[in-house]
Amino acid sequence: MMTTQTIRELREALRPARRAGQSIGFVPTMGALHDGHWSLIERARADCDTVVVSIFVNPLQFGAGEDLDRYPNTLEADHSGCRQRGVDVVFDPDVGEMYGAYPLTRVHVAKLGDGLCGTTRGGHFDGVCTVVAKLFNIVQPDRAFFGEKDYQQLVIVRKMAADLSMGVEVVACPTRREADGSAMSSRNQYLSERQRKAAACIYASLQMAAESVASGELESKNLIRAIHTHVTSHGADRIDYVEIVDTESLESVSRIEKSARICIAAYFGDTRLIDNVAVDAPLAPR
Ligand code: AMP
Repeated sequence: MMTTQTIRELREALRPARRAGQSIGFVPTMGALHDGHWSLIERARADCDTVVVSIFVNPLQFGAGEDLDRYPNTLEADHSGCRQRGVDVVFDPDVGEMYGAYPLTRVHVAKLGDGLCGTTRGGHFDGVCTVVAKLFNIVQPDRAFFGEKDYQQLVIVRKMAADLSMGVEVVACPTRREADGSAMSSRNQYLSERQRKAAACIYASLQMAAESVASGELESKNLIRAIHTHVTSHGADRIDYVEIVDTESLESVSRIEKSARICIAAYFGDTRLIDNVAVDAPLAPR
């Protein structure tokens, strides 16, 4: 496995694979890799000839007062996990290498980033799109693997890649969960033991709502109310949002009539956790 911090070396390393017509799979990450990330990397390994993983904590996607300064760093373990899983190249540049001294360009996808996490994290998705666009330009992958855990990000990146004809297939990978159902996240490390246990209520509330949908409750406001009640009575300190949105447009739906996503962001202490599940209106009986 090769590791490099420079764009030039990475491009050079990928040239022979590209020339030989090999498929290139790419998994962008911010490091502190866990089983959620590994599932993306293993999927890329199974699907593609050459696998590139980037590890870069992107300052552009953090707002003032967010956790940029304390974001976990486990670079050595990340490298050895990548090596064990047959990754070909790890790209872990520093901020100067990625952005130079005076970056002025931002990539903005209209509308899709306005709601959900975009409401409270202004500029977050422009930061995500800018770094992902740069990484796609640098790596020029055939396929890039993203987790459904960050559902809004997945939809936005897919739209960006299509709108800008980037020639990258954005592959959605299912959310990996802890035994108690909590979505795996680098940010789970910030939680105390008590908060970690309590945080399982997020997924429990989503599952409860999905079961209600399956048994015929299709009104968003009733489902959302039940999630609020469950999560606040099981230890969440604050709810940022609970919303039910159209799978593609991410617009809120008042009633579940086709595929939708129930999305939530909630705080446990200072730690903000997100999760989501897919729901579908039950088929009408024939
Ligand atoms: P991050 O390092 O948090 O930027 O995440 C890098 C990629 O891993 C993104 O595509 C995430 O959606 C994905 N990811 C993070 N956590 C999980 C998880 N629990 N299951 C599946 N994918 C995940």
